[in-house]
Amino acid sequence: MLQRLRESGQTALKQCLAACLPHNCLLCGCDSDDSLLCPDCKSDLPRLPPGCPHCAEPTEGSMACGRCLAHPPHFDATFAPFAYAYPVDRLVHAYKYGGELALAAWFAALLAESIGPARFDCILPLPLHPLRLRERGFNQAAELARQLGKKLQLRVDLDSCRRHRATPPQAALPHKARAANVRGAFECRRRFDGAHLLLVDDVLTTGATVNECARTLKSHGAASVTIAVVARALRV
Ligand SMILES: [Zn+2]
Ligand SMILES: [Zn+2]
Repeated sequence: MLQRLRESGQTALKQCLAACLPHNCLLCGCDSDDSLLCPDCKSDLPRLPPGCPHCAEPTEGSMACGRCLAHPPHFDATFAPFAYAYPVDRLVHAYKYGGELALAAWFAALLAESIGPARFDCILPLPLHPLRLRERGFNQAAELARQLGKKLQLRVDLDSCRRHRATPPQAALPHKARAANVRGAFECRRRFDGAHLLLVDDVLTTGATVNECARTLKSHGAASVTIAVVARALRV
């Protein structure tokens, strides 16, 4: 009897796991074994061409872009494997608002690939204000940072840097207002003297928010701040 109970328990567990693990490509629906996207859909994703060494904006010959030359950002470099275009925008949306949390590990694996052997002292997620955290239920950057920490075997610091001011969503603002909107939005509870930091978020648009966070981290002693995002919006 006990043996049978144990067996049926194991079967139920296996069925539960099978239901939880994706077997179909999220984009085309074909059988993709245990990966979220089939190899064809993965190879069709819009890779970001080489670009500005600071902000990853695609440029001729990977030269620094005009914006970074005119206003050097507080961050030092940016890793962004994809352009924020179809279907990456849909995948990010599914992750952020659709509860597709399995995407965090998948994105982190692609980010780890693009970061390669670069070394950092610590990974930090771009902090989300507690109000936004309550609305959304999770910080998409924190999940990414956690998964990236596992892949790169680096320490992840989830709470030394905080967002203490809720700001209107950046998307609602014209470009020039974005830097002013986030000014003074972050605070750090410790020093980062001499540390090389990797700051993680899902998407980089104008970079105003990560730039303000990088400014705060550097004012607390960070030697360098490198941005890692899944995708970068292209300027039009
Ligand atoms: Zn597919
Ligand atoms: Zn640039």
